Amino acid sequence: MKSDVRVRFAPSPTGPLHIGGVRTALYNYLFAKKHNGTFVLRIEDTDQTRYVANAEQYIIDALDWCAIPFDEGPGKNEKFGPYRQSERKELYKNYADTLLKTGWAYYAFDSSDDLTSYRQQHEAEGKTFVYNWQNRADGTLVNSLVLSEEEVQAKLNTGDKYVIRFKTPQDEILKLEDEIRGNITIDTNTLDDKILFKSDGMPTYHLANIIDDHLMKISHVIRGEEWLPSLPLHSLLYRAFGWNSPKFAHLPLILKPVGKGKLSKRDGDKLGFPVFPLEYTNDVTGDVSRGYKEDGYFADAFINMLAFLGWNPGTEQEIFSLEELVQTFDLKRVSKSGAKFSPDKTKWFNQQYMQSKSDAELTDLFLPLLAKKEIVKDYNFVLKVVSSIKERAIFVADFWNLSSFFFETPTSYDPKAAKKNWKETTSELMKELISVIENIGNFSSENTEKEIKGWITTKEIGFGKVMQPLRLSLVGKLAGPHLFDIIAMIGKEETIKRIENAIENL
Ligand code: GLU
Repeated sequence: MKSDVRVRFAPSPTGPLHIGGVRTALYNYLFAKKHNGTFVLRIEDTDQTRYVANAEQYIIDALDWCAIPFDEGPGKNEKFGPYRQSERKELYKNYADTLLKTGWAYYAFDSSDDLTSYRQQHEAEGKTFVYNWQNRADGTLVNSLVLSEEEVQAKLNTGDKYVIRFKTPQDEILKLEDEIRGNITIDTNTLDDKILFKSDGMPTYHLANIIDDHLMKISHVIRGEEWLPSLPLHSLLYRAFGWNSPKFAHLPLILKPVGKGKLSKRDGDKLGFPVFPLEYTNDVTGDVSRGYKEDGYFADAFINMLAFLGWNPGTEQEIFSLEELVQTFDLKRVSKSGAKFSPDKTKWFNQQYMQSKSDAELTDLFLPLLAKKEIVKDYNFVLKVVSSIKERAIFVADFWNLSSFFFETPTSYDPKAAKKNWKETTSELMKELISVIENIGNFSSENTEKEIKGWITTKEIGFGKVMQPLRLSLVGKLAGPHLFDIIAMIGKEETIKRIENAIENL
């Protein structure tokens, strides 16, 4: 049985989901799972001017890739549906009417031109214009607080454009509570009378959000810090409707890696990292933005990294599976201050996850890359290659650079290393080595090592004199895993061929 804990992720489909949004979804998911609750996805698409058609699918695909599925949402367990606000349009007006009746809201007929000129007038007098208790009934603004009922009705009947505004109570100190920030007090006189509903029949974010959280029985609202200024209004709306308010938790901002302020797409472009989970193509401009998935990040590493952007377990442990995150996550350990994003730390997480993945899993990811290069090799051969190089890789895409010599004879040699290590006497020595190799029977890594090192010892020369040129011959540069593993893998014939090539070319 599920508990009463119900949380929601409520993105507006205005474009691709920023990693800050994914983190909000993740914390909601973790909180829901930890408390055996329900994670709801609600699409807040009341602002038709900012609506982007492919954004909703993008959001769903991103949650899928991150493996943090929602329990209820568009097309899934629609118990409290529909979950797209545009499909719930009809129900909001009644609630706005209720607030009009109870005096918590009023009609305002001021045109935007009128409001602009009020604003300018105020500015000319060195004041700022706020639509609130100071001037809502001073006679200059046109609203149902100053008009008679008949006048209001007449305006509505003639189809005058209107908005419904919230009548913020005056002279009150609101005491609000946030699960992360503690107690917050706000003087209602500093608030403006926000628009709740417009004559185009659409509610604003504030009204729709509150009504839906109530109707969907949301117990905890976990969302980004940018919504903290809306908390006083939201809390007053609950009071106005006579509803119990959910608990609120406002997550800290994700900050730029360098400098001050919120992490933006521009930071990613400038410093070379994605700010979106998946690649995104802008329908209109055709612009493509990078994604973590396409950049080669493992979803679990990405999630682990995100979890730590604003939360920590209070221990030294940094690597957490999703299941462990569910067990350990606690809103009490979410910080109030912004979390600096670090592209290097993100890579570090990927590297850590790389090491913990099985060779078989990584081989499955490497095989298609080899196929693209038209390299066909035995599965077990590739498996061994992967096992020998993965500790040096951050991404699967690094595998080829780290291992091409297992599949292809080097065609060039690092000139610096060649100059330093291929001396006048080297070619003679390498020819001798070829005859030694020809006589090795058991071509295992251990045995070739024993035979070749034995021969070097009897020759009474330094190991480097043979080992470095040998590595250069086989790999093309002084890099790569244990040399005798390479020798055993490529086999006797290929080893000899490569040494001969080097003698010829160096
Ligand atoms: N639709 C809002 C957004 O785009 C939701 C804010 C909230 O969670 O209340 O982030």
